[in-house]
Amino acid sequence: MALDDKMVEILVGVSMKIKALPLSPHNHGDRWIWGGDKKGGFTVKFAYHIAQNRILEDDFSTPNPSATLWKHLWQAPVQGNVKVCVRKAAANILPTRSRLSERGIDIDTQCPFCDEEVESPIHALRDCPHAVSILQVANIPTLTNASCVANWLIAIYTLAPAAFSPLLMLIWATWRNRNSRIWEEDCKSAHELVPLTLGWWNDYKAAHVHPVRDNGLRVLHKWCKHSFGFIKLNVDAAFNMDTGLAGLGGIFLDHEGSVVGGFRHTLEVANSPRHAELLALIHGVQLALDHHLTPLVVESDCMDLVQAIPGSSLDHSDLGFLLSDLRALLIAALGARVGYGKRTTNLVAHSLAQEAKDGQFSVNFFTNCPPSVEAFVFSDCNDSPSMN
Ligand SMILES: [Zn+2]
Repeated sequence: MALDDKMVEILVGVSMKIKALPLSPHNHGDRWIWGGDKKGGFTVKFAYHIAQNRILEDDFSTPNPSATLWKHLWQAPVQGNVKVCVRKAAANILPTRSRLSERGIDIDTQCPFCDEEVESPIHALRDCPHAVSILQVANIPTLTNASCVANWLIAIYTLAPAAFSPLLMLIWATWRNRNSRIWEEDCKSAHELVPLTLGWWNDYKAAHVHPVRDNGLRVLHKWCKHSFGFIKLNVDAAFNMDTGLAGLGGIFLDHEGSVVGGFRHTLEVANSPRHAELLALIHGVQLALDHHLTPLVVESDCMDLVQAIPGSSLDHSDLGFLLSDLRALLIAALGARVGYGKRTTNLVAHSLAQEAKDGQFSVNFFTNCPPSVEAFVFSDCNDSPSMN
């Protein structure tokens, strides 16, 4: 029976996917992996995000400002217990008297402070004279058009973003003060409560919020000379999203910046850009071992791989076995380390990878620099600062 064109197309697609599976040449056992996380490990946090996205997809026709609210809330520079309290208020599940009554608890629903209104979350936190006095002392807008706590918070971060984090702190403090009044018959005035709460907030920020975060990685903006006697390997990969075709490239330089070797390698198919970048690292370090190019320092512009390499923990993702192989090669290369460099410091390897993607190269190790990248070597390695 002849296969029709459609069937051939499907089979070719399937065979390409099988070929692109990132397999390690070493003998690792099969295992289950969780596709929701780059490291392949299941966490409740990722399951939560997937569930949230499903809910948002179901309601995709209308923009969902509450999704942005949760994002602002989780990223705000305040303690976790403040976020949990505000989240309950915004989700309308803070156990105010009205909410307890709605859930079948036989309780007086009047506000314990003013005894004039039903104690709903928005009343307790914004509209009650107790809350109003706190917001006034802190100079936070009440924006009474917003009908519930979630809408009030959305309006605040839209209209007065600087007031958003202080408001989170004060919502938490207002609710705490309310509970002290009910359970301990102790209650602070707004003039005591506001400076105390904002003081705690400032202490928290001083201890936990850092102005510049670089994930602990040294970021190089220009190719740098390295320690005497060391060989520096820069690698890169190029990937065609449509065809899966990938090119790997790498260049070995001595501490003076002279080329001592390099490679170009064309891959018929890779699974992802990250897969290609990882294979470029593996090929490069293997060549360093084969040609005795040690001690070695390695540089890649793939930030998340560079971050994943130093850990010794098992990576459960589809690339986990290859990552273990790379770690073993790095140990064999006298404990070589992989650092991150911006793409602008990686022009030679980048060009070699592009050439490999667009041509047909096997892992051939060259010692004479190809003329096509000579200019990049010269511009990368001159007038550069020392890395020692
Ligand atoms: Zn009240």
